[in-house]
Amino acid sequence: MPVDVGFPMSSNRSFLPVSGMELPRFAGIPTFARLPWIPVEEAREVQIGILGIPMDAGTTNRPGARHGPRQLRDASTQIRLINQATGVRPFHLARCADLGDSPVNPADVRDSLERIEGFVRRVVERGIVPMSLGGDHLVSLPILRALARERPVGMIHFDAHTDFYDSYFGGFRFTHGTPFRRAAEEGLLDTRRVVQIGIRGTAYDGEDVAWARAQGVRIVSIEELADRGPEAVMAEARAIVGDGPVYVSFDIDALDPAFAPGTGTPEIGGITTREAQRMIRALDGLDLVGADLVEVSPPFDPSGLTAWTAVNLIFELLCVLATTVARRAG
Ligand code: MN
Ligand code: MN
Repeated sequence: MPVDVGFPMSSNRSFLPVSGMELPRFAGIPTFARLPWIPVEEAREVQIGILGIPMDAGTTNRPGARHGPRQLRDASTQIRLINQATGVRPFHLARCADLGDSPVNPADVRDSLERIEGFVRRVVERGIVPMSLGGDHLVSLPILRALARERPVGMIHFDAHTDFYDSYFGGFRFTHGTPFRRAAEEGLLDTRRVVQIGIRGTAYDGEDVAWARAQGVRIVSIEELADRGPEAVMAEARAIVGDGPVYVSFDIDALDPAFAPGTGTPEIGGITTREAQRMIRALDGLDLVGADLVEVSPPFDPSGLTAWTAVNLIFELLCVLATTVARRAG
């Protein structure tokens, strides 16, 4: 049903995006994909919630990911209804809404982690599957604290980096290079059901890889991905995570910087956008409990290409989340 207002409102009970045939895509207030904006407290019917986490206090070099959610929402006004490759219509399969941004404290990383965890907890308490927009990769830690407190989850993680380092700068333990070390230590990840794809680039000392492998994490380097191909790698990843709950974390620097230059820690020789689309589609059928896409840093990409790329990958993630939700609902 077409809406007759200039932008989505929480009083509008349609969960379909405003059509670009009704209102030009450059007009109106840019909620994600032009979905309705609904505050968490009022989100009783929502099944998948898109939430921004505008924090980059975990970056160790080039910052800017705090500006990611706003630019992603702007770019996402291009998103349409149908995945032409798979036929999936995510906004018809599941009631999706933009839940706004998590509170953060840009001057205090630990305070930010608590605020984000509290926000995501309010989302998951309502039975809403979170699709989070980063923010730097440290935001995955408070998300997992909210999602996996009662039972550890498996994870499929696309990244150039393991993010399994122990600490930076003489013992500081909360950066975008450490979230999964903390999550594993806290029992939030079932490390034997964690697969990392796209790992490459120069390294500090290899301690991150050694520690992760010792916990049973499966690390697929970019060279192995290139040799075996996305289908074989994803078949193995699906077998490893099995039937249990799975979180998906997508660091935009998994992509080659030719496709996604706007990020804090680019590494050459990365995944192509087509490979990324195919690998996300291969997540269909898993028991997905949430996803994030992180590390889009608008100041490092004046062209906006990175956000453009990212919102299309978020659409692919929404497709597999929506089929999961629809299957769960029976
Ligand atoms: Mn990362
Ligand atoms: Mn990375």
